[in-house]
Amino acid sequence: CGIVGYVGSQSALEVVLAGLRRLEYRGYDSAGVAVLADGGIAAAKKSGKLVNLEKALVDQPLPAGAAGIGHTRWATHGGPTDANAHPHLDNAGRVAVVHNGIIENFAELRAELAARGHVLGSETDTEVVAHLLAEECSGGADLAAAMRLVCRRLNGAFTLVAVHADAPDVVVGARRDSPLVVGVGEGEAFLASDVAAFIAHTRSAIELGQDQVVEVRRDGGAGGAGGVGVVVTDFDGRPADV
Ligand code: GLU
Repeated sequence: CGIVGYVGSQSALEVVLAGLRRLEYRGYDSAGVAVLADGGIAAAKKSGKLVNLEKALVDQPLPAGAAGIGHTRWATHGGPTDANAHPHLDNAGRVAVVHNGIIENFAELRAELAARGHVLGSETDTEVVAHLLAEECSGGADLAAAMRLVCRRLNGAFTLVAVHADAPDVVVGARRDSPLVVGVGEGEAFLASDVAAFIAHTRSAIELGQDQVVEVRRDGGAGGAGGVGVVVTDFDGRPADV
């Protein structure tokens, strides 16, 4: 229902949580966050209101993170449980993804993944995307290329935002029949389902077009004054005008 992604010099965890709070008015049944820190992905998710997630984060704190993603879920496939809340991770815990919308062909994708040895831990349509992205990345694709390949296999409506533990300065998004907005600030970038999530930080926003993938990449490393690169393509990798 609500999606936020961030890469920049602020605490990704705090920026993502604040963004989710600004999207609360849309209604939701669960919430979760994932941050890239210490070479891995740390995630927390809880059914119920954001305050439940925030309480869980007091008991089991997450690192601030160089990049992060968050989600407020309005369940369509699988009940509003902790396990079904987003983000969803692949079995190795290297890829995390959040999703708005419905993947219509998830059942056949689940069966295909299970046959290849993946263990699916939720009842959602979304989880297949994490596993498919991880497979493409293991095959040598970077996260944006993997997203393009996976999107071409999906039927339905989706906004997707994903991170990979091997690329701590990168957040990737994609959309079809569901909105995704990119905000570009000073050395930081935001991805969200609604500008309300980041309007407090920047007014420079790009609306992603139909069937497009965006990669936001922060240069300059931690603490550097580096800029942010934004690359938009269609699902075949052709550059898009933005
Ligand atoms: N279909 C997904 C799910 O049920 C996403 C729902 C949403 O848009 O929040 O988990």
